[in-house]
Amino acid sequence: MTTVDGDLLDRSDPLAPIRALFDLPEGVVYLDGNSLGPPLRSVRARVAATLEEWGADLIAGWFQRGWVDLPARVGARIGGIVGAEPDSVVACDSTSVNLFKALDAACSLRKGVLLTDTGNFPTDLYILTALARRQERTCRVVEPQALVDSLTPEVAVVALTQVDFKTGRLHDLRRLSARAAETDTIVVCDLSHSAGVMPIGLAETGVGLAVGCGYKYLNGGPGAPGYLYVSPSVQEMAGNPLTGWFGHEDPFRFSPRYQPAAGVGRMQVGTPNVLSLVALDEALTAFAGVDLKEVRRKSLGLTSTFIEMIDAMFGDQVEIVTPRQQAERGSQVTLRHPRAGPVVEALARKGVVGDYRPPDLIRFGFAPLFNSYKDSCIAATTLEAVLEEALS
Ligand SMILES: *Cc1c(COP(=O)(O)O)cnc(C)c1O
Repeated sequence: MTTVDGDLLDRSDPLAPIRALFDLPEGVVYLDGNSLGPPLRSVRARVAATLEEWGADLIAGWFQRGWVDLPARVGARIGGIVGAEPDSVVACDSTSVNLFKALDAACSLRKGVLLTDTGNFPTDLYILTALARRQERTCRVVEPQALVDSLTPEVAVVALTQVDFKTGRLHDLRRLSARAAETDTIVVCDLSHSAGVMPIGLAETGVGLAVGCGYKYLNGGPGAPGYLYVSPSVQEMAGNPLTGWFGHEDPFRFSPRYQPAAGVGRMQVGTPNVLSLVALDEALTAFAGVDLKEVRRKSLGLTSTFIEMIDAMFGDQVEIVTPRQQAERGSQVTLRHPRAGPVVEALARKGVVGDYRPPDLIRFGFAPLFNSYKDSCIAATTLEAVLEEALS
C-alpha cells in the first residue's frame, strides 16, 4: 500500500498555522465542518464583549456599537471570500429564507420556466418547487450532469448548489453561466458547500443572485446567519418579496410607506441577530489574509490524499462516489457502504467524525483552515480498522 507521510505534508503547508485559531477537542479528527464548523478560540471573548455592551449601553448599542451595520459589515467580509463586488453581499436570515427571497427576485426579472438538478439540497428543492407552484411556473428537475444542456431559452431561472452536498460534485459555474447568458437565464447559486474552501470569483461568473450558509465552512456557529448576494447588474431591479422594515431605505424614519433601500441592503427583512452576527464576524477573521487559491490547493491535497489511501486499502471494495477528477470535486469525499450508519458511529467512537447520509453514504468534509494532512491519513487508517475489525 502507499504510505503517505501526513506530518511531512503538514510541515510544508502554508495554511497549517491557522489550525491553532480553532478550539477543537484533543484527539478528534473533525471531518464534519461541512455540516457545522468548529468555533474559533476568540469567539467566546467576542460574544462576551457584546453581552457587556448590551448591558452597558442598552438601546444605544444599536448605533453606538454599530449593531445596525452588522449585516453589511459581515456581508462585506463574506463578499471578500466569495469574490463579490463591493456592497453586493448582506448577512442575514437563514439560507432557506434567503433562497426564497433570491428566487422570487429572480422570477420578477424573467418570465418562464425554473430549472434545477436532483443533486440540489432538499431545502432548496422544497423552496423552489413551492415557489414554482405559487407563481404557476413549470419547475424542471434534471440530473446534475444535464443541467447546462437543459438551459434553453424558455428557462427563466436556473437554481443550483455549486457543490452537491451528497456526492461532493462541483458544478462548472463558469460554463453554466456562459450558457445562461446566451439563453438570458438568471443564475441563482447556493454557495453553502463551496464558500470558504475555494475561490469562487462571483464578480466574474455572471451569477445573478447567490446565497449561502454561515455555519459550515465559514464556522459562524450553530444557526449562524446566512448571506445573500445580488449582482450589481440587477441590484436596482431585484425586489425583496419580504418587505420588512430593515430593507427600507430608512427604517428609523418609521414611515408607513415602504421604500426599498438602495442596493443589496433591501434584501434584509427584520432586526439583525446581533449575537449570531458577532460570532460569525469573529469566525471570518480566520480568513484574513488567506489566499483562497492556496485553500483550494490544500483542499484538493487533503481529499486526494484520502482518496489515494482508500484506493490503496480497499481497491474497488469501497465505492468512492465523489468525482476523481479534481476539477469536478468540492472539498468532501463521499463513500458508499451498505452499513454506512454503523460505520460512521464506529468511526466517531474512535475519534473520527464524519457523517451519515441515508441510506448508504458516508461523508467526510475537509476544511483546509483546520484539517491537516495527518487528519486525512488518520481518517483513512481508522476507516480501515473499523471495516476490518467490527464489520467484516
Ligand atoms: C446547509 C444548507 C442549507 C441550510 O439552510 P438553512 O436555512 O440554514 O437551514 C441550505 N442549502 C444548502 C445547499 C445547504 O448546504
